[in-house]
Amino acid sequence: AIPLVVAIATERAAKMGMLVKDRAALESLRSVDTIVFDKTGTLTTGHPAVVGVVPADPADTADQILATAAAVESSSEHPLARAIVEAASRRGLTVPPVSDFSADIGSGVRARVEMSGDGHTGSHDVAVGGPGMLADLDLDGHEVDTDDWSRHGYTVLYVVADRHVRGAIALTDEIRPQSRDAVDALHARGVSVVMLTGDAESVAEAVGEELGIDQVVAGVRPDGKAQAVASLQADGHHVAMVGDGVNDAPALATADVGIAIGAGTDVAIDSAGLILAGNDPRTVVSAMELSDAARRKMV
Ligand code: ADP
Ligand code: MG
Repeated sequence: AIPLVVAIATERAAKMGMLVKDRAALESLRSVDTIVFDKTGTLTTGHPAVVGVVPADPADTADQILATAAAVESSSEHPLARAIVEAASRRGLTVPPVSDFSADIGSGVRARVEMSGDGHTGSHDVAVGGPGMLADLDLDGHEVDTDDWSRHGYTVLYVVADRHVRGAIALTDEIRPQSRDAVDALHARGVSVVMLTGDAESVAEAVGEELGIDQVVAGVRPDGKAQAVASLQADGHHVAMVGDGVNDAPALATADVGIAIGAGTDVAIDSAGLILAGNDPRTVVSAMELSDAARRKMV
């Protein structure tokens, strides 16, 4: 039988927006001293918008770059992909057909794009991704200056065709209005706050500074996120991880307590013991308080 106090705590949790899949996770929450948040979709809204497009070659137009990127991204479910497809459709661009799509989680996407007109007619191997993908592709260097975008904390994606950088796209994702309060309340409890992201250092630093986060780890792949959690545990910390994406699943499973954002992917939800139904990171703090109260049988 479920002890009454646990059953009541579970019901209370549900009322505050925390679904309890694993009761042990709720109990374990009270001894957590470090909370690790994913950035995109967790501390930010996960609904980025395109704020800039620039071609590398002045003979190309921003619209060509955006349409090419949208062609590849139309097969991806990633929030950045959706933002690019939406921007292209809002500008009424014709998106060329693609084949052989593949995604490298936490890095970028690629496909063959059948371009027509504008001097690029034919089939091209196109990749869209961040600085990590660019480094992996081992190109000769890129001729698009994106320093200004990085200084603004924008996420920068590169559009590469046949091993040449053709252009870049800047996106920005708003910080959830509740994130600052969540971080402050965790600090007040003496919990340290870490942010993990596959996004670039410049973007991570901007968000980390705005929210007062203690430690920022950027440019990490899904296994890197899990390793970062494991290394905090190896240092003696009791760690909760909060995330929304496929890329967070290994870290959610590694953490002492895995917490998925309700609007996140099924994979994240499957890997977590607790679920934030309302996507509000402050609920983590309320759930910690509830976990304390349940121990003292004060619920
Ligand atoms: P986070 O860890 O912040 O949730 P992700 O791991 O989902 O971010 O993505 C990390 C990085 O990988 C992105 O900032 C981007 O550079 C690249 N990326 C991931 N998916 C895509 C995609 N569909 N198109 C382009 N770039 C992508
Ligand atoms: Mg995410």
